[in-house]
Amino acid sequence: MNSILSNLGWNETFQQQLESSNHTEAIPARVTRIDRGRYTVHTGESVTSAQLSGSFLNGYQTALEQPTIGDWVLIDPLELTQGHLITHVLERKSLFARQSSGKTSGNQLLAANIDYLFIIAGLDQDYNPRRIQRYLTQAWNSGAQPVVILNKADLLEDKSQIIEELKRQIPDTPIHAVSALYLEKLESLNPYLGRGNTIALSGSSGVGKSSLINALLGEERLLTQSNRADDNRGRHTTSWRELIVLASGTCVIDLPGMRELQLTGEEAGVMKAFSDINFLARNCRFRNCRHEGEPGCALQEAMDSGELSLERFGQFTKLKNENASARKRGKARKPKIFPKQNKWREKESVFKEIAIQYRKTNNAKRKLNQEDGF
Ligand code: GDP
Ligand code: ZN
Repeated sequence: MNSILSNLGWNETFQQQLESSNHTEAIPARVTRIDRGRYTVHTGESVTSAQLSGSFLNGYQTALEQPTIGDWVLIDPLELTQGHLITHVLERKSLFARQSSGKTSGNQLLAANIDYLFIIAGLDQDYNPRRIQRYLTQAWNSGAQPVVILNKADLLEDKSQIIEELKRQIPDTPIHAVSALYLEKLESLNPYLGRGNTIALSGSSGVGKSSLINALLGEERLLTQSNRADDNRGRHTTSWRELIVLASGTCVIDLPGMRELQLTGEEAGVMKAFSDINFLARNCRFRNCRHEGEPGCALQEAMDSGELSLERFGQFTKLKNENASARKRGKARKPKIFPKQNKWREKESVFKEIAIQYRKTNNAKRKLNQEDGF
């Protein structure tokens, strides 16, 4: 297997996809950046510009099939004046997405083929465990392993209570308190930073994502909020995303500019993100208990005894309902993918009806003719 590519996260599964395709002459490359339809791709040896080929553009049906950052694509070896042509997107091992804002639009793809999804929160006055929970719900749906990073640990004398509380709520998710600014406890992130691993950094603006990437890079490559503010080109308002390769051979995808993270509707994420509640709910008397006042509801009992806080139950219900509406919206949109076929089916039944009538009249005529002795 190509070792230069494996530094970028290429593995056996992708190699097999390439070999079983009819395009073994194509060059595999990883998408590192997207600017209005222009893709920057890394082939392991060079970074080049590419765009979607005409046949790709004609062939795809949903936005899900378009390449996003972190995707492995196949490019045509022939380089045109406008760059290479992307002909295929290889099957992903994970995908982090959110629902686009607005009622009718679908999902916005954020990053693909990630191993670890870092959910970053700052231990400052903006600390909000509910926001972590929302990111976590979506992260568990991505197929990547979520890791919670509590940054700005230097600001808080005693963090043990916050960490213990969070650990109790999300026992399945590793939690690390670090300081990106003062380079404290960053070594606790080493297990995720192996060669060929891909991590994506998510979290609200201002939690220290750029600072953390700079700390991992060992240089001030990204502008942080303190120097972005007086950057008169207004770069703090941009929302570009980029895949950066660290010296250790770890790929880091920065996901800045996220004001909100809308859930996309998969049920599993809520279940994983609220595994403490899920665990309790196994003792509800009815298997399909909706936890809305049914007799023998274990969640109600846990709230009565104080084992489960009303606030946490409230957030569970909120995200579950939000997820269910996202799912419904997704279902309502689906038939639109094949409108032509539905119309054709309607027409087909009209044609069938005409054919039956025609046959009936013809048979009747033939009968009459026979009776007349012709
Ligand atoms: P981003 O918007 O998530 O990329 O956040 P930035 O990296 O731009 O950081 C936002 C602000 O928080 C900046 O002023 C940073 O200097 C500050 N900051 C980042 N990390 C830390 C930290 O570990 N401790 C403290 N005290 N401040 C930090
Ligand atoms: Zn119940």
